[in-house]
Amino acid sequence: MIIETIPVGMLLCNCVILGDEATKRAIVIDPGDEVDKIGALLEKHGLSVTAIVATHGHIDHVGGIAVLKALTGAPAMLHEGDAPMYENVALQAQWLGVPTPETTQIDKYLTDRQHIEFGKHKLEVRHTPGHSPGSVSFVAPHDVPIIFAGDTLFAGSIGRTDLWGGSFEEIIRSIKGTLLPMPDDSVVLPGHGPRTTIGIERTTNPFLT
Ligand SMILES: [Zn+2]
Ligand SMILES: [Zn+2]
Repeated sequence: MIIETIPVGMLLCNCVILGDEATKRAIVIDPGDEVDKIGALLEKHGLSVTAIVATHGHIDHVGGIAVLKALTGAPAMLHEGDAPMYENVALQAQWLGVPTPETTQIDKYLTDRQHIEFGKHKLEVRHTPGHSPGSVSFVAPHDVPIIFAGDTLFAGSIGRTDLWGGSFEEIIRSIKGTLLPMPDDSVVLPGHGPRTTIGIERTTNPFLT
């Protein structure tokens, strides 16, 4: 599996390109900004995009969806719980003091335990609310599972819960109920910052011990 991680935008959101070598089908997770960079990497690997997915509706994760959709023709997907946030991306832009990005129609809502296939690979959707009502994590069953955790779980920290629709109780329940039961060597690629593993977070994350 091809895995490219690109920190994009002012908040350095980790955008991820996942590609299947054989069929050249790809999924793009969290194209927050800098779609030119994402497009260049897709071109470098000769990939065509099957789906554009977002872990949640914050502007740093969804800001580039419309431009990437126009570039690739791929459908845009996020969880319905964060649809109001995407519709109000202009408010988020105002709040951060950045230009309002172009928006588009969300083509499909992600649901818990749904599978998104790309070539012979697939991603499983897990609803992990708390950072926002519609926050999801994506799990790729690789040699060891790879978890794309969005802003739910970080190396040594967890997502903030003081923004619209956030809940500390819920994020802890999501992490402990959905993410921590995965094998210790599962790799976690958070929405910001360095990668970690489930084992490291279970034993050392101050929010979880
Ligand atoms: Zn966020
Ligand atoms: Zn973020």
